[in-house]
Amino acid sequence: MIKILVAADMEGVSGVVHWDQVDSTHAEYARFRKLMTGDVNAAVRGAYDAGADEVIVADGHGYGRNILLEELDSRARLNCGTPSPLAMVQGVDSGVSAAMFVGYHARVGTQNAILEHTWSSSSVAGVWLNDRVLGEIGWNAAVCGHHNVPVILISGDQTACAEAVEYIGAVETAVVKQARGRMAAECLPPAVAQQTIYDAARRAIGRLRTGESPEPLRFETPVTATLEFVHSDMADRAAILPGVRRLEGKRIEMVADDVPAAYRAFRALVSLARP
Ligand SMILES: [Zn+2]
Repeated sequence: MIKILVAADMEGVSGVVHWDQVDSTHAEYARFRKLMTGDVNAAVRGAYDAGADEVIVADGHGYGRNILLEELDSRARLNCGTPSPLAMVQGVDSGVSAAMFVGYHARVGTQNAILEHTWSSSSVAGVWLNDRVLGEIGWNAAVCGHHNVPVILISGDQTACAEAVEYIGAVETAVVKQARGRMAAECLPPAVAQQTIYDAARRAIGRLRTGESPEPLRFETPVTATLEFVHSDMADRAAILPGVRRLEGKRIEMVADDVPAAYRAFRALVSLARP
């Protein structure tokens, strides 16, 4: 029984090069949520065509209300809305065999990476887990890893795909655009991007079936999470929470029993830090 979680974000969808395109209050957004749904469907189709038995999808961008349910492959099930217990990888604790990250982006501070950020571009300047720098790819892969789930596919720009390889090893990659800066890229048309994702998903399931998938990403426990904010007042607010240690002006640290607990704390601290 192969059950796949397709965890989707939006910044790594082909064509996306600006925040307006992933912002639900902007006119351009309607186009890009449709393209996001197309990328997700390509992964779902590839997974089923290669032998997956069940596919669930998690809508991980913003408030989790982006994927068009009416256009989603009818065999899949959609986790949407926020907050959900496991956020961008909601459902990974439901007996999932492997995860696919679709439409992902590189961590904050990376060069040549479309809309690079880690959770919040306005408040998070850096995240480390046991002194290892992490973005959303690493964070979500680590939560999957805690549940013994390997990440077997990533789609996004070339830099996001390289970041996934850095953490996960020989993950299947679907490069749908070549970033030439934070807000400029050479993009594949949707039909080509989706074919690339479909092919990578098929290969990923093929390797899962023959036991050649990457290992789940694991961290030693307890885990120490370090968080650097953009401004010191954000750290002032986050440091109100008991158990949080102030390291310096913009930096805090906390120790958690395991990765999911650190992930929950991180999400709570980012909310708390908001002006
Ligand atoms: Zn996003």
